Amino acid sequence: RQPDLTCQVLVLGAGPGGYTAAFRAADLDQQVVLVERYEQLGGVCLNVGCIPSKALLHAAKVIDEASHASDFGVSFGAPSIDLDKLRAYKEKVVGGLSNGLAGMAKQRKVTRVTGVGKFVSPNEVEVTTADSTKLVRFEKAIIAVGSQPVKLPGLPWGDPRLMDSTDALMLKDIPKKLLVVGGGIIGLEMACVYQALGTDVTVVELMDQLMPGTDLDLVKPLQARINKRYAGIHLKTKVTGIEALPEGLRATFEGDKAPAPAVFDRVLVSIGRSPNGKKINAEAAGVQVSDRGFIAVDKQMRTNVPHIFAIGDVVGNPMLAHKATHEAKVAAEVAAGLAHEFVARVIPSVAYTDPEVAWVGLTENEAKQKGIAYDVGKFPWAASGRAIGIGRTEGFTKMLYDPATHRVLGVGIVGPHAGDLISEAALAIEMQTEIGDIGLTIHPHPTLGETVGMAAEVCEGTVTDLY
Ligand code: FAD
Repeated sequence: RQPDLTCQVLVLGAGPGGYTAAFRAADLDQQVVLVERYEQLGGVCLNVGCIPSKALLHAAKVIDEASHASDFGVSFGAPSIDLDKLRAYKEKVVGGLSNGLAGMAKQRKVTRVTGVGKFVSPNEVEVTTADSTKLVRFEKAIIAVGSQPVKLPGLPWGDPRLMDSTDALMLKDIPKKLLVVGGGIIGLEMACVYQALGTDVTVVELMDQLMPGTDLDLVKPLQARINKRYAGIHLKTKVTGIEALPEGLRATFEGDKAPAPAVFDRVLVSIGRSPNGKKINAEAAGVQVSDRGFIAVDKQMRTNVPHIFAIGDVVGNPMLAHKATHEAKVAAEVAAGLAHEFVARVIPSVAYTDPEVAWVGLTENEAKQKGIAYDVGKFPWAASGRAIGIGRTEGFTKMLYDPATHRVLGVGIVGPHAGDLISEAALAIEMQTEIGDIGLTIHPHPTLGETVGMAAEVCEGTVTDLY
């Protein structure tokens, strides 16, 4: 069969990985076809992930701050929430960015094909569009098909009261009682939104801490804050069943400290995401996909088939947008014939909860597990003038460094804006900076960013005073 379209680079999936790869390849004068199932570009991150969740978290933060302003003598009264307007705000944020991407694709003469793509040979993808199929022949392909929420089996998934993160972001209503199954980043961010809107939130987590894998000390200030606000946080607890009743979803639990069965108006299941590698008929192209659906790649983002690349969530953890975009640039540049490799030393992680929790590089957990030598310095925000001024002294900034070289190994920050503060630490690790250099760098006073400099000074033993 003759192809309907030919191109040098085909990009499958238009999330942050896919659109970045398409744009970079086009900027390098490649003819690019970008295949995406949905009309809107942007993938999970823009449409049902990073961006809408942060728009809603912004509203949550404003509500929360207003309701605590009485601490300094300002009272606003109970919030009145117009859910339609809040939804419209979120959609406006998403829509504006998505239109921007469409404009950027057009400007770069990227050919967009809307439909579901599947490999039919090592150089062809067949796209099933609304009314036809299109065969696209390519010289190189970049797979950027992302991931989707894991659906816990055996639950009544047809019931609209049972939600995944995409449903929760739709904000259909403000449930009276919400159960969040899974205390990872996504679950806790959504819990934060709903709690601020007035929902009674219960969180259950299978492991012995929230955000498993994160240093426990970083999670503690978050847990202390939400303990007071949520109806319940149950660790080491398993959900054994959810039954759809007319009055709500009845959940049963198992574990030493498991709560009694209870009925909730809605249940959000956020227990992780699974890669979409198995849904693209990759075997027709000879691309190997693991049992779980991941596609293995080398440092140039090549799969086992040298002219086919893969990037983003589908190549592995951490499933983060900023990892996808960096990988995208590598893949696009290599596909266009440039020399490039994914050589980032570290990838920062952020939970945009309140307080935010952010870390980059080596964590203390990991250092202990792997027997890596480290020293640590911690600067408590209770000693930061700015943190005191905003009434948020529960945070801290901690820095792990190599005792032999004094190079920064990892940094963790918990407190408001931690996600904005972590970039300095990422740069320090990428540049193999010594802690002394951070301490000697003049940070503006009084800022929360100053706590990064102060943590370095704690490491060096040169910290002198409270700020
Ligand atoms: P995706 O964004 O998943 O995009 C893949 C695209 O491929 C989709 O548009 C899909 O429709 C398309 N596609 C798949 N198969 C086909 C096919 N066969 N044919 C055509 N098209 C196809 N990350 C962060 O870094 N920061 C955050 O704050 C953050 N918050 C999040 C909040 C939530 C609620 C969720 C769910 C995720 C969040 N993430 C966050 C993770 C982030 O969204 C992902 O890491 C990121 O979207 C991965 O990008 P990607 O390009 O690999 O894939």
